[in-house]
Order: sequence, then structure tokens, then C-alpha cells
Amino acid sequence: MESINFWDEEKLRKLTELRINKITVKEIAKIFNTNINSVKYAICNLISERVNEFNKKAFDENGKFQVKCKTCNVIKTDISDFRDAYIDGIYIKGTVDCNDCIRKKNTIRRYKRDYGIILDINSMFDSYDILQWYKWTTIDKTPNGKTLKTLPKSLITKENIAIIGRYVINNILEFNTRDEILNLSFENMRANKIDFSDTKWISSSPYNLVSIAFPELNIKGFEMNYTPSNYWSKRDNFLEGLKYYYVKMKVKFPNLNVSHYFTKNSLLANFRPLLVAKGNYYKDARWEDLLKELNIREKFMSDKYSYDEIKFSSIEEKNLYEFVHKHLNLRDFTFIGNNRSDNFTYYDSFNGVRYFPDFYLKKDNKIYIIEYFGMWKEKSSNEVFISYKEKTINKIKFFNNIKDIIFIPLFPNDCISNYNGLIEKFKHHELIK
Ligand SMILES: [Zn+2]
Repeated sequence: MESINFWDEEKLRKLTELRINKITVKEIAKIFNTNINSVKYAICNLISERVNEFNKKAFDENGKFQVKCKTCNVIKTDISDFRDAYIDGIYIKGTVDCNDCIRKKNTIRRYKRDYGIILDINSMFDSYDILQWYKWTTIDKTPNGKTLKTLPKSLITKENIAIIGRYVINNILEFNTRDEILNLSFENMRANKIDFSDTKWISSSPYNLVSIAFPELNIKGFEMNYTPSNYWSKRDNFLEGLKYYYVKMKVKFPNLNVSHYFTKNSLLANFRPLLVAKGNYYKDARWEDLLKELNIREKFMSDKYSYDEIKFSSIEEKNLYEFVHKHLNLRDFTFIGNNRSDNFTYYDSFNGVRYFPDFYLKKDNKIYIIEYFGMWKEKSSNEVFISYKEKTINKIKFFNNIKDIIFIPLFPNDCISNYNGLIEKFKHHELIK
């Protein structure tokens, strides 16, 4: 094998008479028993006269590759920046655009030809405002009367989508208030080419778009009229929705019988977005479970709380209490229940039992103790009820023997037929007329 003196210009000049392409470069390397890059460098220097037209040699005095792109004026030291140019003989044609600039020039040509849009090579797509680009895809014709098919890919950034989304929602759809914005639909988006279905940020979701376009509104998925698909099938979203309405929104419950707020109709009336969940998750969800997770006070879900927020151990007691308050208008009728204190503790020394009566009422200087015997059965063979009955009788005897008080025992029978029995007993003791 003959060795090559790369700087033997005469020999190389001969070689360049061959049509230089990828194959001949390879063959030259073979002939001179060297590598392809060395041949490329040698050829490059050989044609450096042409490069010199732009006042730069392909190699500096240390043999290091460096070429200044005639368009961007950047000195590039990586031969691959010009690879295509000279492998295909473009150097020889006298072109020293770097690959980047060649691409840019192709793009500029294409936009001019297809749309009449003139791009400046230094700013390229930034030659125009993002909204102008958007308008060319919809409401404006491009300078040569066409419609831009799509936005240039590099302009589809999160920031630009936010600007476009905001513009379209406010100015074209004329949604300006929060409530109006919540109505954004996929149809609105598609009609105005703001669905951005290929992007991870939007992918056709109205919720995603408003989140990006109006971050200051902090809109929640469940607020959207068109909630994200499968939104409600995710338990966390469901809980978030509930939490928002019942905690963060500080929803006031004007009616303290709060179980009333958890009916289907009430949800429909008050919390429309939550009702969207009806078809999905919440159909099967137990409100009590969900509300516990939300750490909402128990009274919001229990029917054992009275209108004035007193907790009863049974619904019957609560109903009785509310009847006396609301229908008999005895507002001093007090539930002792769990608030046991010495004032209301009675010790039956004969039977060795301590009693905590249910209700207390002071009227016209008389003290009434009222007890509801909810488990009372006139006849039963069940031991539990037999024992309860015995205890009840002892209790009544005990209270009847206390001189300072008037004792009124109440039984389930007194509470049927709109508390007829109770009313008679209260009349008898002159609590009501
Ligand atoms: Zn360049």
C-alpha cells in the first residue's frame, strides 16, 4: 500500500477529479490505507480555496477543522455540521451554510411558497406574534390568501397554548366570568382549533386547557361542566369534589337537619357538578364513609342530631324532643342524655341503681322529669324485654316517690298517632293546655 502525504496537493487534486461521493471517499481511504475522516479532511483542505472565499480555511494552522457558516457566521469546529455539504460535493459548489442554516432556509422557502409568510432567518417563527400564527390557522388568511394548516411545531409550547387558549376563550367564545369559562366544551375547542390533541398538556381536555390558560382561577376538574373523562370514577377526585363543596366552600347548612343535604334532589339543586358522579362512583358510595374520610363533622351526616345540634342516642328520642320543642312550643324541654351531672343523677338505694333521666323541664316552679322507655313492650317472651320491663317498673316507682318532682314516663305508644299519648300526659300535668 502506498502511503499518502495528505498535504501533497498535486496527488489530491488528481483524486478530486474523480466524482467525490461516499463511495469514492471510502475507496480513497482504502488506497491510502487510512480512515475516511482523514480523507475528508484532506479533500476539505484541498478545496480550501473555495472555503477561503468566505475568509476561512477548513483547517487552522494546528490542523483543527473550523469553518465559518456564511449565514449564521458561527465558526463550527465539528465537521459533521457540514457533512452533507461536502460529501455531496456542495462545498465544491461554493456553499458553506451549516446544516442548521440549510434547514432554516428550506423552511423559509416553504412558508413563503405555501403561505406567503416571510420569515426572518434570525428570528424564524418568532418573526410573528403567537396570536398572529394562531389567527392564520383560523380567522385570518395568510398573506397569499391561504389558511395555515397547523401551527409550526416549535410554537406549540405550554406557554403559547396558554396565550392562545386565553385569547380564544375570552375574545372569540366570549367566556369571561368563572361560570362562563366552566362551560368550555370539547366542541368549542375543536371548532376553534384549540384542542391541541397531540400535546400532553391539553390532549383535547377542556379542563386541561382552562387550567393552563387561567391558572389564577384555580379551577377544579369537578367544576367543569364537561368533567374530564373518567374523572368521577377516581375516588380521589370524588373526595376532592366533596371536600371542596363542604369544607373549602364553607357551605352553610341553613337547615340543621343536615341529612337533608345529602339527598339526590338536594345535590341536584346545590351541587350540580357532584351529581355528574351519579352515574359513576357515588352511586355505590356510602355517604357516611366518604364524609368520614373528609373529616366533616358527624352532624352533617347523622339523623340523630336535632335541629339545634343536640345529639341523641336514638332517632325516636330526637323526634320526640323536636316535637315537644316545635309543636308544643316548650323550648325549655331539655335533653339530659349524655350531659350527666350530679344535678340530674338519682340514686335508688333500695335497688342500688343510679338513674340518669332523659329529659328535664322546669315550668311554673315545678320540676318535671320525663323518661322515654323506648324498649317497652307490654307482652314479650324475650328475656331482654322482660328484664327491661322490670327495670322500667322499678324506675317509675322510684321517681314517683320523689316528692319534689313530677315524673312523666313515656312509651312508644305515646309517640304514635302524632304523639297523642304524650299530649294527653302533658295536658294532664298542665304542661300544655
Ligand atoms: Zn449557519
